[in-house]
Amino acid sequence: MKGMDVKLASVISEVLSRNAGEGEFHQAVHEVLGSLTRVIAKNPNYADDALIERICEPERQIIFRVPWIDDKGQVQINRGFRVQFNSALGPYKGGLRFHPSVNLGIIKFLGFEQTFKNALTGMPIGGGKGGSDFNPRGRSNNEIMRFCQSFMTELHRHLGEHTDVPAGDIGVGGREIGYMFGQYKRLTNRYEAGVLTGKGLVYGGSRARTEATGYGATYFVERMLASRGSAIEGRRTVVSGSGNVAIYTIEKITQCGGIVVACSDSNGYVVDESGIDLDLVKEIKEVRRARIAEYVTLKGKGAYYVEQGQGSIWDVPCEIAMPSATQNEVTGKDAQTLVANGVKVVGEGANMPSTPEAVRVFQEAGVLFAPGKAANAGGVATSALEMQQNASRDSWTFEQTEARLAKIMHGIHDLCAETAEEYGAPGDYVLGANIAGFVRVAEAMRALGVI
Ligand code: GLU
Repeated sequence: MKGMDVKLASVISEVLSRNAGEGEFHQAVHEVLGSLTRVIAKNPNYADDALIERICEPERQIIFRVPWIDDKGQVQINRGFRVQFNSALGPYKGGLRFHPSVNLGIIKFLGFEQTFKNALTGMPIGGGKGGSDFNPRGRSNNEIMRFCQSFMTELHRHLGEHTDVPAGDIGVGGREIGYMFGQYKRLTNRYEAGVLTGKGLVYGGSRARTEATGYGATYFVERMLASRGSAIEGRRTVVSGSGNVAIYTIEKITQCGGIVVACSDSNGYVVDESGIDLDLVKEIKEVRRARIAEYVTLKGKGAYYVEQGQGSIWDVPCEIAMPSATQNEVTGKDAQTLVANGVKVVGEGANMPSTPEAVRVFQEAGVLFAPGKAANAGGVATSALEMQQNASRDSWTFEQTEARLAKIMHGIHDLCAETAEEYGAPGDYVLGANIAGFVRVAEAMRALGVI
């Protein structure tokens, strides 16, 4: 905490001690508050009235039992969460994650990040996050449906188009949102389209929402490079993950002329020097719901697979790295390897995928580093566009929606760059994103009194 404002340091240690054992939340708080020293120096009022302490305390945390019956007739039990972090800028907004690792600390880190990310979009949305420790892997369609229905049976009383609007995240895609929307509609007897986003196009979804996070991250990187007279075209790229964010990052990077040579899942990674065959990845992940290892068998010649533990996807040399899997997937050692192999740009598609040490390595090496809360904001921004379409009972074209997304991402890039410049750290997108997001939330909270 060298050089940090004394007040900030004491807020951090207080937050850490009253949220014991929540490692990811501690990391996220450290990361954001660690950027605020210059803001407090310029505007000491932000440290008054326990404003920073209030920003670190979720408005509401809901934890609930989710019982459901599996295909064998056995009763299963999971834990559900919804952390309604901050509603100063609008209704709570943020995804639901279904993954066995989910716990309160992870949901709180995601909700905290979401609050600032959503503020950066400039759209009227607060921050929230939720999910369950349910493991969807290997579950049948009917099991997924029964789980989603049970989850929503409890959660619905806390939601509403003006109150809290969930969407997807890891383990929650179009299928799960459909089952949850169906159950919400049934329980409330309301066709309240704006209560969930990421819906299917036939029942109130937005065009380009599926693509938005990956496309948005690519727009951010494109803008970062363009502002330095450079481009994605011809650049060798590695995209970790093979879920929604990774798939549409690969698609957009390829459209921009980049060459994506590797992607992964939690079992291992695949390298294809001729460029990842995206149709094949979509078939494996979205239709077969299988493991990425199958890529090699289905593709035939030219590709190879490395199992997790035998190596890291970040060993694959590239100029652009797009971590799009999960938190803390890029370690300090991975970052050193990437730098040694000549990486020029890192664009975070996932939430907090780089450890603090990795971020330090990138920044010290002069790598252009786009933090997740700025670079992956395209998903939630397009969710806000979906809410807008639902509220006006309208449906926009793909082109119109994508153009809005591109404009929002360019705006976020410019806001982060200008803020970093204003606070004496040109090129530091971490500082720019944290300060710009914080100032928007802090200003709204101050205006609303002690809330
Ligand atoms: N889960 C996504 C995120 O991390 C999207 C949230 C949303 O669309 O509400 O931002």
